[in-house]
Amino acid sequence: MLQIRGINAVSIVAPSDHSFPLAKVAACLEEDPGITHLCFVHCETTTGVVNPLRPMVELATRHGVRTIIDAMSSFGAVEISAREVPFDVLVTSSNKCIEGPPGVSFFVASLQTLHSKSSETNSFVLDVRDQWRNFEQTGEWRSTPPTHVVQACAKALEELAVEGVVRRGERYASVRDAIIRATAPYASPLLEPRHRSPVCLALTARDVVQTQEDLDALYAHLVEYNLYIYTKLHLPTRSFRIGCMGCIDPLWIRLLGTAFEDFFSASFDESGNHPGRGITELWKKAI
Ligand SMILES: *Cc1c(COP(=O)(O)O)cnc(C)c1O
Repeated sequence: MLQIRGINAVSIVAPSDHSFPLAKVAACLEEDPGITHLCFVHCETTTGVVNPLRPMVELATRHGVRTIIDAMSSFGAVEISAREVPFDVLVTSSNKCIEGPPGVSFFVASLQTLHSKSSETNSFVLDVRDQWRNFEQTGEWRSTPPTHVVQACAKALEELAVEGVVRRGERYASVRDAIIRATAPYASPLLEPRHRSPVCLALTARDVVQTQEDLDALYAHLVEYNLYIYTKLHLPTRSFRIGCMGCIDPLWIRLLGTAFEDFFSASFDESGNHPGRGITELWKKAI
């Protein structure tokens, strides 16, 4: 996105199964005083890692660098306090932990950022600041509002207020732990417990699920049980992921355990060896 808009950027590459290396970020900020903004993901949805929000913002602030946080998959289930963590902009949307329908994105920004004269955008559609000014001045959307979606989001936010962010996070964490227990004989969590977010779980079953084709077979198998997981294998870690967000019935998790048992026990041959990719062929035939 930055490239398209002609904005210079350096990226800090780090393994996706560990939280952000603060020392690397610090070194980068020290080396390059030209850096004005630090943009990072709070919960890395690929693996479920939660990155250290407060230390990252504090580090950036010490260097006079503005912070932009992608909190898409944490907002609503992981506590974030704008009073305690002085980030500049946080972006999220209606369709993950807020449990609303897709279609509305939100941002939380400091008034200083909103009032600053610098960095006016040359995009109409992406000009959230102009939309904010319009709301403040006229109470109106700049274009036809998506009324149904907004009403459903308002309802979702009401329900979030009743449940509370902490309790929602705990509910997701108990779903995550139940999935770990249900799939334990066949799959293991990619991350160490201290890195795991409550919102999604990355699993590995490296003897059997090694390639995208293997995951396609598992996916097709789960569909037979009316269970749907994320479709893509993360190749660097050979992990696949299951979301814990939303209203998950404990019965579905028991069903997942049974479905895993059926799938993975089929992959042992008489001598107890995994035929590995053989199972893919088996399921291709079955489908
Ligand atoms: C889901 C997700 C996105 C994309 O959200 P959309 O609703 O597709 O715009 C971006 N970043 C993270 C970390 C996500 O989890």
